[in-house]
Formats: sequence, structure tokens, C-alpha cells
Amino acid sequence: MLSNSLIELDRAHLVHPVASYRGHERAGVRVLKSATGATVTDATGHQMIDGFAGLWCVNAGYGQESIVEAATRQLRELPYATGYFGLGSEPAIRLAAELAERAPGNLNHVYFTLGGSDAVDSTIRFIHYYQNARGRPQKNQFISIEQGYHGSSTVGAGLTALPAFHAGFGVPLDWQHKIPSHYAYRNPVGNDPQAIIAASVAALRNKVEELGRDRVAAFYAEPIQGSGGVLVPPPGWMKAMRDLCSELDILFVADEVITGFGRTGPLFACSEDDIVPDLMTTAKGLTSGYAPMGAVFISDHVYDTIADGAGESAVGHGYTYSAHPVSAAVGLEVLRLYEGGLLDNGRKAGARLMSGLESLADHPLVGDVRGRGMLAAIELVVDKQRKTPLPPAANPSRRIFDRAWDNGLIIRAFGNGVLGYAPPLCCTEAEIDAIVERTRMTLDQTLEDPDVR
Ligand code: PMP
Repeated sequence: MLSNSLIELDRAHLVHPVASYRGHERAGVRVLKSATGATVTDATGHQMIDGFAGLWCVNAGYGQESIVEAATRQLRELPYATGYFGLGSEPAIRLAAELAERAPGNLNHVYFTLGGSDAVDSTIRFIHYYQNARGRPQKNQFISIEQGYHGSSTVGAGLTALPAFHAGFGVPLDWQHKIPSHYAYRNPVGNDPQAIIAASVAALRNKVEELGRDRVAAFYAEPIQGSGGVLVPPPGWMKAMRDLCSELDILFVADEVITGFGRTGPLFACSEDDIVPDLMTTAKGLTSGYAPMGAVFISDHVYDTIADGAGESAVGHGYTYSAHPVSAAVGLEVLRLYEGGLLDNGRKAGARLMSGLESLADHPLVGDVRGRGMLAAIELVVDKQRKTPLPPAANPSRRIFDRAWDNGLIIRAFGNGVLGYAPPLCCTEAEIDAIVERTRMTLDQTLEDPDVR
């Protein structure tokens, strides 16, 4: 049994990420105790399928002994090595090389961080440095997309375009700009793929003209917008945006923090989109959540411009835990597991998940089903014709999350009535079917709830 004192200690001392502090104090923490495969057990003994892989990160699933062994071995041999002073560790060097070999095109240089937010922050610093080094200091304006998420750091949160990350925090900064999302289900131009691509291309072109072509440094896009509600652009969208950035002399940054490492099928979603970004950010699945780590992939031309610009001077950007050897050892083993069958299993499980969720499309509450691979969402509405969202005052996401939990399923219930799915790639067919069935049960119960309708 979970002791009350743990709940009290949490209430008194632990500040939770992205939470209503007062709401959380009232509700109390739910303590997770153990996990294996795709199943998580809480401190009361209740078992659930983790349909969200923690926070879309435990792609390899829980309880992978070989990862535990790789981390333990590294902890014994060398728990820490700085990358400062020209030093390094074997796992970090090997992981950088393995990643560069697999990354699209000429993304041959890898800068390790602690997670996704500081990976995005690092790109901002590298891009400023790059534009200065090539004699274009006035190219210092950044563009991202509404509903996009690029982390929660002081500066990166301004590229994020979700209201809760801005209100009260003094962002976006005056050099951070947005264009509308491709969000097909609610796009003013309708859901025709070519119309959506044309609208995004026009929006970026207009924004660049408005700011001045010689002032725009970079454009950021997720291959699939994750935290904005799993918004999948039409095929060809990433390529059209990439090509426009090349034409306009703007760096294209692909934020693959969620989509990287098998989440959408291949190791990197950019490969499927057939593009090579100038920089690419990853985290989450890189270590499958077993240890914190992110990675910025830098193309040859950006790296060389920075390196030549600095000459013999230091490029002053670094963290104590850049290229942490234990995280790197975990990353190497996770990569081996992905290629040893997990990517294949994830692709099969992803197809089953998508067809399972599509079978819910005729449910009275389901307005839209979307996704790619093991990354999916259903969008709930009270009126399908009008696409009327669930009434926010009833806090439907909290209710749906709680019901799913009781039904033995962890999903992401976004505030706008969107349910997000990102199960571990190791899921069996039976587990995928259970995710769909438990969702159906949760939706049926929600339909009976007079406050949500
Ligand atoms: N970029 C994207 C696309 C993300 O989804 C996230 C996290 N969900 C981040 C950046 C930030 O990563 P982290 O939470 O590891 O700082």
C-alpha cells in the first residue's frame, strides 16, 4: 500500500512539471512503482498498459536487462567524464559515430545534451554563431509553427507555441515568430493535402518577406507536431518547407525529439520524408528514458562554418553533462535493441494500432483519428458535423485520463479533448488490441457522463 506520508511529502516538497500546483496538491500524487515490457504497476498494485511510453520516450519498453547491464558496467568503469579540456569517453565517441552513420545526409556532427529542451536551446546558440561566422549577424529572426513544441527552456519556450508555456513567462521574445499549423482537421483551407502544403508554403514565404529575407536565420518544424495534439502533415509537406528554406537561405531545423528513434517507423522520420535538415534535434528514444540525454545533429556546412569562424578560439557552449558516458552507454545498447528487432516490431504494432484506432472512428465522440507508426491521436468532439470540442469547463481530459487509468490504460489526455498514443515499440498484438479496447470502454463511459456531453 502507498503510505499517506509519501503523498504528504510530495504535496509539501516536490514541484511537478507542467501541473496546476494547487490542483495537484488537492489530487495528490500517484506513485509508479515498477514496470516491465509495456506494463506499469503503481504503488497500490494497479497494473496498466503504458500507452504513452512514459512521456513518449520509453520506446524500448521497460525492464530491458541488457540496458541495465550496459549502464551498470559503465557506472562501475567510468561514471563520469567531461568533454571539456579535450577529454572524452569511449561510449560517447562511439555513439556519436553510430548516430552520424545512420542520420540523413551530411548530419555528421553530434552534440550531446541532457534532453530535448537544451538540444533546441543549443541549436539556437549554434545558429546565431553560424550566421555571425558567415558575416550575416542581421540574420537573427527565428520562425516556428503554431501548436509546435520545442521545449521549456527560457529561450526555447518562445519557439514553442502552446499558450501555457508563454503566459506569465515573458515569451515569445521579439525575434521569435510563428506561422499557422498544417492541422488538417481544423485547417481553414480544408483537408486537401495540396491545399495545406500550398498554404504553409505561402505562410512561410509571406512571413519571411514581412521580416526581410536577409533577417531570418532559421525555421523549426517537427515532422509530426506532438504536444500540439499529434498533428500529422500531409506527405510532401516537410519536403516543400525544406526546399523553400533552401531557396530563401534559411536554416531548416527538424525537431525529432518525439519522432526520432522508431516512433514513426524508421530511425528518423526525416528519412521517410526524404529530407536532410541543416540541424536535427533528438532526445527521448535516444536512451529510451533509461538515462537523460539529447543530441543535436549538425550538418557539415553548419559545423564547418562555426569551426572556421571560431578558429583557435573556444566555441563557448557546453554543459557539465554534455556526452555523459552512462547515458551514452545506454544509447548504444538501445540502438542495438532497435536494430535487433524493435523497429520491425514497432512498425507492425504501429499498423495494428492505427487500424485499431480507426475502428473507433464511428464512435459518437470521435471526430478525427490520425497518426503515423506508433504515434497517434484521436480527437474527441461532441458534435461531429460542427466539430464542436468537448466543453473545457468540465475538465474532460482529467476525467478521461482517470477513467482510462481505472480501465488499466495510460494515455495522454490533452486539454483540448485529444487523446495521444505513443506505446513502447515492444508492444505485442494483444497489448495493442487491449489499448484499443480499453479506449473504447473509456469513450463509452465518457459518453454517459452528462458534464462532458
Ligand atoms: N522538442 C519536442 C518536439 C518535444 O516533444 C520535446 C518534449 N516533449 C522537447 C523538444 C523538449 O524535450 P525535453 O522535455 O526533454 O526537454
